Amino acid sequence: MLLALLWLWLPHAALGATLDAATARAGTDVLLLGAATAERTPQRACTAEVLARHQQILHVPAPAGGWSGEPQAVDVFGVLAGEVRISHGDRQICGSMHDARTRDSRFRAGVGMVVVPKAGDHEPIVVSWAAPIKPRWIPTVQLGGPSPVQQDDTARLLVRAACVAVVIALALSALMGYVTTKDRSFLLYVAICLLFVLWQAVLGGLSGYPEPWLPVHNRASWWLVSLSAFTEAVLLPVLWRLCGGDRRWPRSRPVQHVLLWGMFGIGLVVPWLHFAVLPWLAAGLEHLFVLGCVVCLAAGGWGVLQRDRYALAGLSALVPWWGMIIADALHAQWLVAYRIETLQLSATWFLMMSAYALNLRLGRLRRQRDEMRQLADTDALTGLPNRRAGLRLLAEYLDRARQEDQPLAIGFLDIDLFKDINDQFGHEVGDQVLVAVARNLRDSVRNREDVIRMGGEEFLVLLPGANRATALARLESVRRQVQAVTAILAVPGLEVSASIGLAVLRGDGDDLASLLRRADHAMYCAKRAGRNQVYDAEQAMAAGDRQPA
Ligand code: GH3
Ligand code: MG
Ligand code: MG
Repeated sequence: MLLALLWLWLPHAALGATLDAATARAGTDVLLLGAATAERTPQRACTAEVLARHQQILHVPAPAGGWSGEPQAVDVFGVLAGEVRISHGDRQICGSMHDARTRDSRFRAGVGMVVVPKAGDHEPIVVSWAAPIKPRWIPTVQLGGPSPVQQDDTARLLVRAACVAVVIALALSALMGYVTTKDRSFLLYVAICLLFVLWQAVLGGLSGYPEPWLPVHNRASWWLVSLSAFTEAVLLPVLWRLCGGDRRWPRSRPVQHVLLWGMFGIGLVVPWLHFAVLPWLAAGLEHLFVLGCVVCLAAGGWGVLQRDRYALAGLSALVPWWGMIIADALHAQWLVAYRIETLQLSATWFLMMSAYALNLRLGRLRRQRDEMRQLADTDALTGLPNRRAGLRLLAEYLDRARQEDQPLAIGFLDIDLFKDINDQFGHEVGDQVLVAVARNLRDSVRNREDVIRMGGEEFLVLLPGANRATALARLESVRRQVQAVTAILAVPGLEVSASIGLAVLRGDGDDLASLLRRADHAMYCAKRAGRNQVYDAEQAMAAGDRQPA
């Protein structure tokens, strides 16, 4: 409680102190950050070298009666590589998506500028850029009032940043999955997420925001093609696995490996390739991706027909990619206008579906682990906890009895002359006796876990909370239950009984081994005293039997 109060109070106190200092400096009720600057606005014009590459020019003409005299915002989206130049009269700016510092800060998702043409002026606004590496990846130029254009720009920036944030969150959660399970597929997923973060950052221009944090400079085309090869290298095999292809056609593995390492190899050599090769490579990667989507769709569809519910995750991961492939084929305008956002959303959706599949896998692993633990702890014939699990349980009871200062008694039970039962009636009847005894024992204790098959025809009955008198009475009832098996099995001539040794936990210094030894010793005393009875370890000691060490 005290800690919680401290936690609530500390940030306020710390913030209060900082605010006080700032307020004192400013002399008024305000927090003043930063300082006056002599730095020039970093907007710049294109170099001659950049302009030489600008083969695409758009002249935005003035309206019929000339410009109105109101400010006009021009924002150019989707120039995936290279620089854009916007000019009007003697005003011009140049910028790429990756140099946030040198651009007009009012536009972040695109390269934009606000011009104020004189009323009645007819001079067009001129926009130019280099030819895109893919013929359909053309830029979108948005013209309008500064406010709506800026709003659209901000909305796009939010979508792009949100996609990256979601992917980072998925990576962090997978990292936690790895910490708890040590399953390497989680680490692989984290690596895939990080790769997608880089790809999205270069694709959406976030690599330059707020300051350039990737050395993209003027090599965005190379970065984009290289990262596309890397992401495709993991995307296609993962989609194939999500759709169940890998499980159903394990022979596809060599192809997957060739694809994975081949694409990684391509991604690695891209930085050394000549610019003229990039469009070919980008087109090749795109065709391969479409082919991969066709194959995965077929595999996923087949999986669903075969009632493979895991394949549904793969099919859902494919949905946005197929949406894009179809929209592209139909030359849909929305795809041209929002290609970056659509690509980023599709990639994020794919990673979410992969995370879902990973969680399904985690659930399956947990179930398998529980089943294996259950198998390892259970005796196959009787269904009772086996010696291993029993000793663990006894240790737990022992600790609890000490902590809570409660009594604990155990009964060591051995079926009488069981070897004779086997010899006389056969092993099968022997087994039936064991199963029937186990069932009756289980019915005669409170917690079903408190009867353990220690091995052969020996059982252990745990009686937490029972003192000597209660334990004796309970074990006497247990002995009668074992005898009742005779009537239940009704095999002529078969008589079932058991000898039980009782031991009660002593004060300090007693341990599990000693408790078990005393119970075992008492059981042998019961045998020697004529079988079919409950024997108390203390009673055995009083009678002058040698106490086990
Ligand atoms: P006592 O009254 O002194 O305990 O005599 P006993 O015959 O019960 O003692 P012993 O330990 O000599 O015999 C135990 C027998 O239990 C020997 C072994 O073949 C048999 N046995 C052990 N496990 C199984 C089992 O799973 N099924 C069957 N049918 N017999 C088992
Ligand atoms: Mg025995
Ligand atoms: Mg026996």
